[in-house]
Amino acid sequence: MELVRLGKTELMVTRIGFGALPIQSVDRESAAKVIRYAYDQGINFFDTARAYTTSESDLGRALGDLDDKEIIVASKARYKDMEQLEEDFNTSLDNLQRSYLDLFQFHLVNYEHELEEIVKKGGPLEFLKGEIKKGRLRHIGITSHRSGTMLKALETDIFETIQIPFNYIENEPLEKLLPLARSKDVGIIVMKPMAGGVFSSNPLAIRWVLEHPDLVPIPGMCRVEEVDEDLKALDAPLGANELAKLEADKQEFGTVFCRRCDYCMPCPNDIEASFIVRSKMYFKRSGWDKMKQNHIDIFTKGLSCNQCGTCESKCPYELPLTDMVIEESKAMLQKAVELDMLTEEQRQEKLNTAEIEEK
Ligand code: SF4
Ligand code: SF4
Repeated sequence: MELVRLGKTELMVTRIGFGALPIQSVDRESAAKVIRYAYDQGINFFDTARAYTTSESDLGRALGDLDDKEIIVASKARYKDMEQLEEDFNTSLDNLQRSYLDLFQFHLVNYEHELEEIVKKGGPLEFLKGEIKKGRLRHIGITSHRSGTMLKALETDIFETIQIPFNYIENEPLEKLLPLARSKDVGIIVMKPMAGGVFSSNPLAIRWVLEHPDLVPIPGMCRVEEVDEDLKALDAPLGANELAKLEADKQEFGTVFCRRCDYCMPCPNDIEASFIVRSKMYFKRSGWDKMKQNHIDIFTKGLSCNQCGTCESKCPYELPLTDMVIEESKAMLQKAVELDMLTEEQRQEKLNTAEIEEK
């Protein structure tokens, strides 16, 4: 597979990398199989995080027999305090079964005060620079969902890579962020190239990102078929018809939609908020016949949301979840009636019960 230079890191990574967030959702044996399959198909760049539960150890199990130089591995951790960072860094190395990491990123730095904490004198950067001196780390990067914070991060001239959401819908970085990153020769890793599943064709969505020859999309993969599907982007055409399809998806879902990151979870009341707010998109893409009784139970539970705001405060995209959870639950129960999975009386009863409990 074609390689691309990841900015000033000089790392030569494959045109498409492996986003290892969703791998935690399958069993461990399948996870190792998918990762190895991706490697066998030519992918050499794997991006994981301490926060992705089993993801790092899945990568270690699947690829630990390779020489460290054969693949390029990036992990990341949220910065809480120095002790925690040191522990996270050591755990990443152990889990990934490596003597060094190619890239360690400060994870999800969405606010300027978090950035200030990271770059302050005597702060966590000094620890990571120490790891570079020891040969246990090669490069330092940063990830964020907010262009404004990333612009500030670039101004520090500290980070060698940035990782940002970028796709046909979320293309705001085209204006300022990408030009600034390029002018500083910072490597650009693209998360959410498929905008969390909004697009009707994954290869097409990734293809649009690949049109920018220096960007490295890392679509999340957890099935062998997904690896094959995503790699089709390498030679998918992108003419007027394909652009019209992307535009149609954009028009259908707008900009207020769930990206499947699950940072909003868990809900203190055990409501599956993230699934509820993306359920319409999910069933439209995968087929309404996938809706089952257990989903109706999830939407029914969604009606009991007390609008505490916990999920909303954690959503990096600032989705209005306190309203969306109830509204989407109601809409999906209405859909269940249309699909003859629920009678109108049963739906009404569920709404009435929720109202009584609220009072
Ligand atoms: S607003 Fe509703 S769904 Fe969100 S955390 Fe609170 S109870 Fe749960
Ligand atoms: S609601 Fe927000 S935080 Fe939750 S999964 Fe969707 S985008 Fe992520």
